[in-house]
Amino acid sequence: MSNIIIIGAGASGMMAAILLGERGHKVTVLEQNERIGKKLYITGKGRCNFTNDCDRQTFLDNVVSNPRFLYSALDVMTPQDVIAAFENWGMKTKVERGNRAFPASDKSADVIDTLRDQMKKNKVRVMLHTRVTDILTKDGAVAGVTAIETRPGKEERHLTYEADKVIVATGGLSYRSTGATGDGYEFALKTGHSVTDRSPSLVPINCRGDICPRMQGLSLKNVSLTIKRGKKVVFTGFGEMLFTHFGVSGPLILSASAKTGRMINENGGRDLDVWIDLKPAVSEEQLNDRLLRLFDANKKKALKNVIAELYPSRMLPVIMELADLDPEQKIYEMKKSDRESLIRITKHFPLSFESLRGYNEAVVTQGGVSVKAVRPRSMESGKVRGLYFIGEVLDLDAFTGGFNLQIAWMTAACAAKAIDEEE
Ligand SMILES: Cc1cc2nc3c(=O)[nH]c(=O)nc-3n(C[C@H](O)[C@H](O)[C@H](O)COP(=O)(O)OP(=O)(O)OC[C@H]3O[C@@H](n4cnc5c(N)ncnc54)[C@H](O)[C@@H]3O)c2cc1C
Repeated sequence: MSNIIIIGAGASGMMAAILLGERGHKVTVLEQNERIGKKLYITGKGRCNFTNDCDRQTFLDNVVSNPRFLYSALDVMTPQDVIAAFENWGMKTKVERGNRAFPASDKSADVIDTLRDQMKKNKVRVMLHTRVTDILTKDGAVAGVTAIETRPGKEERHLTYEADKVIVATGGLSYRSTGATGDGYEFALKTGHSVTDRSPSLVPINCRGDICPRMQGLSLKNVSLTIKRGKKVVFTGFGEMLFTHFGVSGPLILSASAKTGRMINENGGRDLDVWIDLKPAVSEEQLNDRLLRLFDANKKKALKNVIAELYPSRMLPVIMELADLDPEQKIYEMKKSDRESLIRITKHFPLSFESLRGYNEAVVTQGGVSVKAVRPRSMESGKVRGLYFIGEVLDLDAFTGGFNLQIAWMTAACAAKAIDEEE
């Protein structure tokens, strides 16, 4: 049986440990934090949306970077397998809108407790306060790791762990306080792997100008967002968003950040044409007809009062300004061009993306250990025998909805299966 070291007691590390422990392997998990699953605890706003109960194609459609790399991993652990595993381990689950799976208790702590119990049952050794500092290799194969143990009140200890398999499950860079120190990228680089550029993803976006701060706190539902670069539509989505003191946030914006984050990083989003359609359910013609009817019935009233029913009140002054209209003007004074201007802003409310918010507001890291040198069936490095990369440290990321944790579980399952089958 292999002597296996897993670096990181996060989602992927714990899943790999359980599956390997179950098969009787000697597994040690080294975790730098004082407790396991710190990031898992804050997932899904404390409820942990641990997977998405969807079919194969839907899963792949929701993976933003390198979906093809995950084809064979889907044969090893589907979302349904993940749900069945947790149910089997005694955690009741439920599936909500959009196929999002949660623990029935709505408590992420239940996911962590379940993983802890299973690690214990399968005799996995977990060493907390232990930060891995280096990966040792010999003749093209992994030989172990070095680590520093820093227990409060105790002297720092430098340790060496020998191992014939090392699994790097160190996660990404977002929410640093959860242990997202980025060490895994250093391990990959030092062992001859390439690491693609990293960027915060599923993250709010800073915008230029004072438009957003003026509407701070305003949330829009059922709007559509379109982003074009030159003639190409690079993102289009429908849903909910929020104006903040710095720019924009909310589910629709987070999804947009996953698709356009790198473009925003390149030159401050200057070549992106971004707009919100405030009335996506109606065409320009239908909106025109509606305005004509409304104006016809209210000829003597001021514009701002007549159209108040069409827009949130905090948005109205901004719309008037962008459409270059006088809110006090009477409807009978309005020209056709004024109406057209109003329609244009309603269907094309402009935003000026400037930069992404930081890793501490990002749900995931985009980019990471290049999948080119990692085998998609086993997650083993093609460069160092016995070295595996799983979870968010890899150049894999997905939209919200439980897909990122699904990536963590399934890549862990691949490594565990491959190691077990080697014996
Ligand atoms: C606020 C927030 C909410 C989220 N909500 C969801 C959600 O609802 N659904 C979903 O699918 N995804 C969600 N995610 C994303 C998801 O949590 C991550 O993609 C997932 O946890 C990645 O798993 P991992 O095992 O790769 O890394 P992690 O779970 O981050 O675990 C990595 C572990 O490695 C340890 N480590 C790192 N370096 C070392 C070292 N040198 N030595 C020892 N230990 C080390 C860390 O301390 C950490 O415990 C959310 C993320 C955030 C930040």
